[in-house]
Amino acid sequence: MTSAFGGQRSIQLSYGCVGPRVLDDGPRRNSPAFSSGCHILWIKSSVAFVADLGNITEFNNEDITMDLAYTDDELAFQDEVRSFIGQNLPAELAAKVKSGAHLEKEDIATWHDILYQKGWVAPGWPVEHGGKDWTLTQRHIFQSESARAWTPPLSPFGLAMVAPVIMNFGSDEQKAHYLPRILSGEDLWCQGYSEPGSGSDLASLRTKAEGQGDHYLVNGQKIWTTEAHWADMIFLLVRTDPDSKPQEGISFLLVDMKTPGITVRPIITIDGAHSLNEVFFEDVRVPKENRVGEEGMGWTYAKFLLGNERTGIAGVKRSKMRVERLKEIARTEPAGGGRLIEDASFRRRLAEVEMDLLALEYTELRGLSRENSGRGPGPESSLLKIKGTEIQQALTQLTYEAMGYQGLPYGLPETDPSANLPPIIPEHGGVTTGDHLYMRAASIYGGSNEIQRNIIAKAVLGL
Ligand SMILES: Cc1cc2nc3c(=O)[nH]c(=O)nc-3n(C[C@H](O)[C@H](O)[C@H](O)COP(=O)(O)OP(=O)(O)OC[C@H]3O[C@@H](n4cnc5c(N)ncnc54)[C@H](O)[C@@H]3O)c2cc1C
Repeated sequence: MTSAFGGQRSIQLSYGCVGPRVLDDGPRRNSPAFSSGCHILWIKSSVAFVADLGNITEFNNEDITMDLAYTDDELAFQDEVRSFIGQNLPAELAAKVKSGAHLEKEDIATWHDILYQKGWVAPGWPVEHGGKDWTLTQRHIFQSESARAWTPPLSPFGLAMVAPVIMNFGSDEQKAHYLPRILSGEDLWCQGYSEPGSGSDLASLRTKAEGQGDHYLVNGQKIWTTEAHWADMIFLLVRTDPDSKPQEGISFLLVDMKTPGITVRPIITIDGAHSLNEVFFEDVRVPKENRVGEEGMGWTYAKFLLGNERTGIAGVKRSKMRVERLKEIARTEPAGGGRLIEDASFRRRLAEVEMDLLALEYTELRGLSRENSGRGPGPESSLLKIKGTEIQQALTQLTYEAMGYQGLPYGLPETDPSANLPPIIPEHGGVTTGDHLYMRAASIYGGSNEIQRNIIAKAVLGL
């Protein structure tokens, strides 16, 4: 049986009871059904399930039922995806992703273009806009196969964040113009939400857009704008009515980054890399036809987008990649006369993170199932965001510890071929410290985890 991690195994997990047990090959189909009425999977003591990683069987929650046992067609689809990725993903790109090195615009564009040519760049989009009519299981297979092969993550700002907003609230002209360009990779986007003093309290934002005839005049500043230095377009929250309640005076604009009056300044993060920026707007003219939906309704569209963003930040696919890399390191690194992978304490910590990751995967699938049934991401996306980022941080912490002093160099230094010394970072290592330090930001971006807990308290638990 092929697992999501590519091995031949099935796993029985009994949370809070005996811990994970790796079983012999189980049935590839028709395995026992899994059903749970619980809402939060990582409340371990209340959850017990039988899962075959990659061949998830059945999952009940409220009125949502998922049957993900692989059919023959799905197994054929899995083979097709695996062989496509195997034949088309450049080996050096996969190696760079695996190393944890900072990816450049070209790295991401290369993989985007390969998927675009195949028609697989946005499988979750509706077919009418160029997506694929893939089932939940097919999407799960695609993500799992991508993780196995170390594909680079695509930039989410266009594909996963602004595109659903345009599809749901944009004009026909906006859909016709922007969606194909997002799909092809012609336009890269960035997110202009946060401002100095307006992060968690986003509704206090002060960048203003004054209506002047057929256009707005935008003045203000955004901060922490990821990939703004690469972006062709920015989606921007602006204040169009300074006199109404904070949430009611906000509008959502689509702005060309080449418009005169926009200045981008870099922010170098703790890993030494450049992905963040400040963006300044000085008398920037934005046509009113670039406003999404109604004036003053931007807060509604912004919240819809944040739901999608938080679900994406959960990063199950990337965490699976991190687990694989960590295991490889642990199989190589010495510890206590053997290998680190044999160390009981290390194994226990790794197993705990893996169990949490598996539970998170089910929670994410339940969210996808909810979306498939026509409902957008709900406040549960906050729950995915918190646990997903905690797992990411636990994994980079474990990797950091596993590599020890060999993981201290920030980047991947070039090794002098004439030097009579071993490479500073051994082959199984990679960018450990930079990755570990950068991932401290995961519990801040997309809305800090404290704020997500507040959302859960109010919107999910009704406190
Ligand atoms: C790496 C990175 C990338 C980012 N990319 C983008 C981007 O592309 N576009 C964009 O618009 N923004 C981006 N951000 C900004 C991000 O959304 C904000 O940093 C985040 O919302 C927190 O806001 P803040 O930094 O202003 O912190 P603050 O809001 O000042 O919060 C400071 C601390 O106080 C806590 N706190 C604040 N209010 C409360 C409360 N009511 N209850 C409990 N605790 C509270 C917070 O949890 C946090 O720990 C990015 C941030 C990072 C770190």
